[in-house]
Amino acid sequence: MIPIFDSKRQYAQIGEEAEKAVCEVMRSGCYILGPNVKALESELADYIGCKYTVALNSGTDALHIALRALDIGEGDEVITTAFTFVATAEAIGMVNAKPVFVDIDENTFNIDPAKIEAAITPKTKAIIPVHLYGQPCDMDAIMAIAKKHNLRVVEDCCQAIGSTYKGQKVGTFGDIGCYSFYPTKNLGTMGDGGLCTVNDEKLKDRLIALRNHGSMVRYHNDELGVNSRLDEIQAAILRVKAKHIDEWNTKRREHAAYYNKLFANCADVQTPAELDNTYCVYHQYTVKIPNRDAVHKMLGENGIGAMLYYPIPLHFQKVNAWLGMGKGSLPITEKNTEVVISLPMFPELTKEEQDTVAKVLIDCIEKSKSAAACC
Ligand SMILES: *Cc1c(COP(=O)(O)O)cnc(C)c1O
Repeated sequence: MIPIFDSKRQYAQIGEEAEKAVCEVMRSGCYILGPNVKALESELADYIGCKYTVALNSGTDALHIALRALDIGEGDEVITTAFTFVATAEAIGMVNAKPVFVDIDENTFNIDPAKIEAAITPKTKAIIPVHLYGQPCDMDAIMAIAKKHNLRVVEDCCQAIGSTYKGQKVGTFGDIGCYSFYPTKNLGTMGDGGLCTVNDEKLKDRLIALRNHGSMVRYHNDELGVNSRLDEIQAAILRVKAKHIDEWNTKRREHAAYYNKLFANCADVQTPAELDNTYCVYHQYTVKIPNRDAVHKMLGENGIGAMLYYPIPLHFQKVNAWLGMGKGSLPITEKNTEVVISLPMFPELTKEEQDTVAKVLIDCIEKSKSAAACC
């Protein structure tokens, strides 16, 4: 069995150090908003290249709290993509705003900046670009539109820690960047975790208050907040793992290049595009293939852990049915959901495993074609 992701192999590398760090926290008696959270926040601000970071409970909370900090709420519209994890649009709903879905670029899977302006109305307050699979969005184009129309930008960087656009890390272009430390992310903890990046000091203070019951001074609650603090234990684990993020991302990129080579002569497998001036960290390695559903099933039967990210676009999810977006409203998004498949991708993946994945995938596509031809 070749899994899509294997947290146990990573544990073999950092487990001992992480166990030591966790024990130290347990012995210290300081479990919430202590020295590890503080240190992690400054270490990741240095790494990402922003003034401040605010550590939170999850990537979903990061998106939700970011919108709250920017005063986005009832009656407002937020432009984003429907080809993403549900949390991106969920955060918009959590502040009672309306998600407005714009179609994606066929090659990058990211929101198509050329289609954003047509979706802007007097109610539009913000854009949430998602750096999907670790591929940076076209931030020059998005920031130019935001500036022209006076819109806020919240970057969903949950799959893209370490990705750069023109040499600058994602999460530093817009007003706030949102990261997730869910275990399978490129920097994952052993539970839930998230983080906001921000350069504006006032906005940073607002995020800090919102994560802790709307309170800057203990027992003084200025506005409705939430409890979304990152635990000291998770922060200690993340500090151990963060030292390896570049090494792990480099390995992912090497695996992507090797997959590209293995599929170079296979017209049926469309490998992911990488734009000039970007550094993609390959949270997923996602290809487009024919007979996707049949091939996906066969891969499972042959021990290959391929996954579909995402099989149903967000405008077709029941939770978003009230938007009334029917078939054909986002043609490229809809087409992509039917042809994409993500292959095993994690730093510890071996060349031999990649050889097997490629061989089995190509075999399965051939078989699916003959099956389709005979009925
Ligand atoms: C993982 C993810 C989230 C949510 O992060 P959680 O930490 O799981 O809440 C949001 N957006 C995208 C694109 C993600 O991949």
